[in-house]
Order: sequence, then structure tokens, then C-alpha cells
Amino acid sequence: MKKLGNLVEDSWVEGNGAGTPLFNAITGEAIASASTNGVDIGSMYEYARSTGGYALRRMTFQERGRMLKKLALHLHSCKDKFYKVSYATGATRIDSWIDIEGGIGNLFANASLRRKLPDSTFAVDGDFIPLSKEGSFGGHHIIVPKEGVAVHINAYNFPIWGMLEKIAVNLLAGVPAIVKPATVTSFLTEYMVREIHSSGILPKGSLQLVCGSARDILDFVDERDVVTFTGSATTGRKLKVHPQIVENSVPFNLEADSLNAAILGPDAVPGTPEFDLFVKEIRNEMTVKCGQKCTAVRRIMVPEKHIDAFQDALTTQLSKTVIGDPSVEGVRMGSLVGQTQRDDVRSQIAILEEDAEIVFGSPNEVEVKGADSNIGAFMSPVLLRVNNSSDASKVHEVEAFGPVSTLMSYNEVSEAVALSKKGRGSLCCSITTHDKDVATEFVRNAACMHGRILVLNRECARESTGHGSPLPLLVHGGPGRAGGGEEMGGLRGVRHYMQRTAIQGHPSMLTAITSQYQPGSIQVESEPHVFRKHFEELNVGDTVTTAKHTVTEADISNFANVSGDNFYAHVDATSLEGTIFEQRVAHGYFILSKAAGLFVDPKKGPVLLNYGIEECRFTKPVYPGSTIGVRLTVKEKISQERREPEDVAKGIVKFQVDVYDETGETVAIATILTMVKMLDQSPD
Ligand code: NAP
Repeated sequence: MKKLGNLVEDSWVEGNGAGTPLFNAITGEAIASASTNGVDIGSMYEYARSTGGYALRRMTFQERGRMLKKLALHLHSCKDKFYKVSYATGATRIDSWIDIEGGIGNLFANASLRRKLPDSTFAVDGDFIPLSKEGSFGGHHIIVPKEGVAVHINAYNFPIWGMLEKIAVNLLAGVPAIVKPATVTSFLTEYMVREIHSSGILPKGSLQLVCGSARDILDFVDERDVVTFTGSATTGRKLKVHPQIVENSVPFNLEADSLNAAILGPDAVPGTPEFDLFVKEIRNEMTVKCGQKCTAVRRIMVPEKHIDAFQDALTTQLSKTVIGDPSVEGVRMGSLVGQTQRDDVRSQIAILEEDAEIVFGSPNEVEVKGADSNIGAFMSPVLLRVNNSSDASKVHEVEAFGPVSTLMSYNEVSEAVALSKKGRGSLCCSITTHDKDVATEFVRNAACMHGRILVLNRECARESTGHGSPLPLLVHGGPGRAGGGEEMGGLRGVRHYMQRTAIQGHPSMLTAITSQYQPGSIQVESEPHVFRKHFEELNVGDTVTTAKHTVTEADISNFANVSGDNFYAHVDATSLEGTIFEQRVAHGYFILSKAAGLFVDPKKGPVLLNYGIEECRFTKPVYPGSTIGVRLTVKEKISQERREPEDVAKGIVKFQVDVYDETGETVAIATILTMVKMLDQSPD
């Protein structure tokens, strides 16, 4: 029988012994075995830190982002072969789409995050913090990649998405990974890692893989590393207190099973679009991935007066579900990933039956198409119903990780909030309602116990991504039972693999360290004018101090005429009683426009365009007779990649525009964004 490989350092290594046999979930046929016996996991850590981490840390965020994009494009170009292997996990085409293309989508999303990051190996976090009266001492924060390894211990339900959503983030941060997929579906993860490895897109040592039990995997972690765990709360809690984790204060992100709830709003009575949407959503949540989603709806809460109507509508839909071999035409729901998992689900249903009764389906009998229900790990959707919602407890404690959900009733929104919290922390929750008051009451009161809340209604349904889909730019994780962890969420996730360090010193020193101009830092008068310099010739701190202009009443009247902004404080000197203004005040936008008139060097040159303002504050009123001047300072430079080879090579230059008056005080401050041509126009 084929033995899965472990990607150790840069080679594929088979573990010793027979290994754990892995089966096709549909046909029961043994397809491979997995073993980590004899694999030197300690050497994998060292290789990751020294070789993979070293290479990644030398790349900038832009380079790492482009690497992720290249990998995503490559995997997308050969995605069909992953679908073929994925059938053996019991997944339908749609289930595999979530796993495979959802995973690749995470790579794309993280690749795009590079646009929010600098072209450097580290990033600046937050704003400058003045710490002294005279301005010679301040503080800032930077984030740098950790010098260890991201160890990902994953659950069996998403063998591809589970890996890609995590490595996308650590690779963007500049940290290598060791992935340990759950053994039962590791054949699919291994298949994809072989493709990634042979593509040569990632630097050596940035991704290694162990397929098999690897119970010693955490024995080698230390203070440089980060561990993520996705799986059952029982295993997660055990691993979280591993001595190496505790002694070295290793960040441990726990994503565990959770009893996610879906609520039908009181307004969503039968006959409304929301009622139908809710039925459809619950049917999908119960049947997609055969209910093996950490986010799947386990508890359904419906107003008491509509519970029978809802049960009828849902069971009608569930009875139409064709179960069987996912490669057979017409099959909507495949199987669980294996017989052991099916046995687990059956025993969890038995516990749920202590306070609920089965109103649809059976844990032991199922009709299947194109397969043998005794051999494949099939199960019918099972709907339970609690008769006394206030007394039931098991339904808020036990997760049956399959096509299983329990229905219960509520009367007031506050009761739905309380019931949803009885799960003691979930990954996600949803409420289907068209009533803004209901949604507001529910979300504001329930949010503290749920990692994500979807509000579904007729207005967003067509484009909604659904209750069960974690998205790369939104956080995934939840409090309490859900593990208390948080991952993804765009840049928030990237920060989990980086050390945030507070830096204190003179502003000029902080400017040098951060490569961003900090207030109070030295400003070097630029010769020639900064608009005459190409991107490479500009230095952070280069400044142009402009000529001065004395503001007149005519300026204010003219600007009011041109802009049509006749706000009383600009045009009516008799209206100022009770305001902070002493006289007609100049428009803030006039001050900024006049500033541009003062700082712009008008002749054609390297500055291609001005494309916006990032921050802008009018800090002091400017009255006729005030004399203003501008200090224009290079604040930050970000080089840009060319989309097409024939594009002009250019970068973004952020300039601080500091407008001050005759007293030297700042009256307006803004950051303008310009695109500046590079000197070097040679092809990339
Ligand atoms: P599990 O039994 O807890 O296993 C999870 C992972 O931990 C597997 O890779 C497993 O490896 C590994 N593992 C178990 N014991 C270990 C040990 N002593 N040392 C090192 N690794 C160890 O969970 P599962 O049965 O695979 O997954 C199903 C559960 O995961 C469900 O309860 C589901 O709700 C939860 N889940 C949660 C999320 C989430 O994001 N919150 C996502 C998906 C699934 P082996 O396979 O080799 O045992």
C-alpha cells in the first residue's frame, strides 16, 4: 500500500513501520498509510528556523505577497487534480470547492494584503506617541517577523483550506510553517504539499509536513514559535498546557468545536422571504460537508408560534437530499470522513436524545445512491427537537460533528440571546431578520459570546457568503468553548506571527528606524525642490519650506464663490456670536488649496500625479491678515510593482503638508499621496 511522505527539510521521507491505514470514505478501500515513526521532528524545527525563516525574513512584504499570488495562481491552474483526490474524503464537488478553492482564495486574499503593507521586511504599527514637553523624546511601535516556526495542527474536515488559510498568513508575515494535518484525511493535504514543493515557488524550509500521529510534535517548540490548533476542545485543552508551551510562553491559538446557533427573527413569519431564506440556510448548514464544519449550525432557535411550520418546511427540504457517492450525478451530500467519525456522531446523538427527540432522519439508517451504506461512512441528516428549551442542557454542551442540528423555541429576543450564550462561546452565530431593531438588540447583546455574527435578510441574501463561511478578511475564532482564539481577519492575523516592540528615543532616531518621518524629527531642506526628484532620489525628511501668503477677505469671498461653500462663518461676520470664531474665518479647504499653490513646483517632472489625502486636520482658525507658509516633507516612500511590463516604474510618496501661521503654530496638517516616477525604468 502507498505510504504518505513527510516533507522533512527539503526531502520526502516515509515513516517507519506499517503506519495508520487511511480509507476512501465512500468505498471503504484502503488507499494509503501514514507514519511519522523515525521522523526527526526536531530537525524540521531547526531547518524551518534557520533555512526557511532566514529566507522569508529577507523578503519584503511585497515580495512575500507576490510569492503567495504566484502560488495561488499555480495551484488554481492545476486544481482539477485536487478535486479527484478530494472525493475519497467523502466530499461532493461543492464541499471540495469550499476546501480547495476556498483555500486558494485565502492565498489570493493574503497576497492582496501586501498593498496595505510597506515594501520592507518589517512594519510600523500605529502612530508616533509624544512623550516629552520639548519634543525630543517619543515612542512608536514596530512589528518584526518572529524568528521561529508556525506549527499548525489541523482538524480532518478541511485538509486543504485548513492548511492554506493558515500558511498564507504566516508566510506573509515572514515565518515558515510545519503543518500536521489530521491523519485520516492527510492524503489530500500531502498531495497538495507535493505540488507546492515541486513548484519551487516557496523558499526551501518555508513549508514542511508531517502525515501521521506525530505525538511529539510540540516537544520541540520554544519561545520563537507560534502554535495553532484546530480540532476538538478536549485535545486542544490538553495541548495548550504542554510543558514546552507553558514554560516558553508560546502563543497557542486554539480553534475548537463550537455549538453555533442560528436564530429566526420574530418578524420572519412563514410567507416572508426571511423565513424561506432561513430554511435554505439551515438545510445547507446541515448537509454541506456532511455537517463537518466547525461553523455549522448545531442549534436552531425559532419563535415558538412558528416552530411547527419551520420544522415542516425544513424536513420537506431535508427529505429531498440525495445522499451517496459524490461522483454520481444528482448526489447532494457525501459521507463523513470515516467510520470512526460516524461512530462518534452516533454516540453524540445518543447524548442529545437525553433532552431532545429525533424529528427527522436516523443515525443508523440511510438510503444512498451509487454506494453501499454499510461500507461508506454515510449518515442521513438528523434533526432533533427540544421540547422544553429552558430545561435542556445537553444541546448546549454536546457537538455531534456531522449532519446534525437541534431545534428549540424562544419567545422574546432576549431569550434568544440567552439561549445563544448557553453554548458558552461559539465561532459564529446568525440571525435572519428584516427588522433592524431585532438585529440591533440581538447583535449588541449576543456579540460577546460569538466570534462572528451574520445578519441575513432579503437585501443581502443574494450575495451573502452564508453562516458557515469564515472569510480571510474577517476574524475567525470565538470565545470560551470555541477556544478563545482568533485567526485571519486580514492584517490582524499577520500580526499573530510578528513581535510588536515599542521603540523610544529622539524623533530623528525613530525616523531612521521606522523609515517614516516622525513629528519633531530633523527636516533637511531639499535642493532641488522635492517635485524635481525621482523616487530613488528622495529621502524621508527631505523638506521644502515655501514662500508665505497673507490671507485676505477677498480670498475667502472668492473661495466661497468658486466652491459654493457659503457656510455662515466664512461669509457673514454678523453671525458669529456664540461661536468660537472672532471674525470671518478662511475655509479649511482654501488653506489646503492655497498650501498646494505654495508647495507645488509646476513644471513637468517626476511627479506623475497626486491621488489623495490620507489625513487632514484644520487645527487653528485662519482669519484675514494671517500669514501662512508650508513645510512639505517626505514622510514615507513605498515602491510599487508594475502590473504590466510596459508600465512606468514608479512609487508612492507620502508628503506631510504642515501649514503654519505667523506665530509658527500649525493651522492645518495633512498627508498627501503622490505617484513619483523612478529613475530606473529598466524592465523588472
Ligand atoms: P482532534 O481529534 O482534536 O484532532 C485535531 C488534530 O490534533 C489532529 O491533527 C490530530 O492528529 C491532532 N492531535 C490529536 N492528539 C494529539 C496529540 N496528543 N499531540 C499532537 N497532535 C494531536 O479533532 P478532529 O477529530 O481531527 O477534528 C474534529 C473536531 O475539530 C470537531 O470537534 C470540530 O468542531 C473541530 N474543528 C474546529 C474548527 C475550528 O476552526 N474551530 C475547525 C475544524 C474542526 P491525528 O489526526 O493524527 O489524531
